[in-house]
Amino acid sequence: MSISDATSTRQLNLGQTEPAAAPCGTYTWCAETGQHTTHASAYTEAPTPDGFGDCVLPANIIAETGAGAFAPCVGWLDLDLTAEQTRARVAELHRHLDTVAALADIVDGQAPLEPGTECYSVTAFGTNGALISSEVYRLDDPQPGEPAARIAVFGQPEADADLDVAGADQLVAGLEQFLPRLRAQRNHLAAVLGSGSGGSVRATDGTPGHYSWCNVAGCRTYQYDERDGGGSYVEHVGHETAITLSDGHPADDIRITAGLGADESYTSGPKVYLAVGDLDALGLGAHGVDTTIAQLEALTSALRTMRGQMDSEARP
Ligand SMILES: [Zn+2]
Ligand SMILES: [Zn+2]
Repeated sequence: MSISDATSTRQLNLGQTEPAAAPCGTYTWCAETGQHTTHASAYTEAPTPDGFGDCVLPANIIAETGAGAFAPCVGWLDLDLTAEQTRARVAELHRHLDTVAALADIVDGQAPLEPGTECYSVTAFGTNGALISSEVYRLDDPQPGEPAARIAVFGQPEADADLDVAGADQLVAGLEQFLPRLRAQRNHLAAVLGSGSGGSVRATDGTPGHYSWCNVAGCRTYQYDERDGGGSYVEHVGHETAITLSDGHPADDIRITAGLGADESYTSGPKVYLAVGDLDALGLGAHGVDTTIAQLEALTSALRTMRGQMDSEARP
């Protein structure tokens, strides 16, 4: 169900005149009242409207308990997202907002970040020293297996503060400015170490390598923003396996695809991407693949049982 469906349902409910509508008995987050099976929370939207006055990035929780039931999910970006998918999109948008903020720095001529050499700090009113600082440093003589560079994170001893509202505002603003800088240091570190993650593969000379399962022609190399310290990362993709389930009516065909992939800009390592039709793909880690295999085996076993039952005679 999409946001627009949810909107029309909500408008429908607004049009009804049920004087003593009881709150939802199923979900505490649900804003619907009275008899209903389509559950929706109130929309949350970004506080900044766009130039047309339209709200930006509205989102809410939706669920259905009637026909076509589905568990709670986040309705956002014209998609129904799981909790994990929502967090992934939020992380992507955080990175995007850093890039947008960097455009402002270009406009007013601020020097780009130098995350490889700069030390970034957060202070608060009344502290004698930074609450938190971070800095990339290189090890002169790393031991085998030890990374050649790290990010040092430290605070000044006894740097504490008692804040009023204005002081809390100032600290929040400081932390918000600090986060994109820490991310830039993270990306710089990943570039220096020649990897975005533990899951990356490099040849011994440091050039990008590939997994044995890679469909190398399909793997894509991306550049980190120069302002984030530059460097590159690879999105690895394997060969896809697809099956089409059919009852003889091509319009009803259900296509299931599965493929291995690994995005070096994430730390999660290779994942199996499993998609049904044009629904959003699931990104499954090792544990998720184990669970899925067990579920599909249970389904296969149930299908075998049903197949056997189809041949049995009806009892008189
Ligand atoms: Zn409800
Ligand atoms: Zn590859």
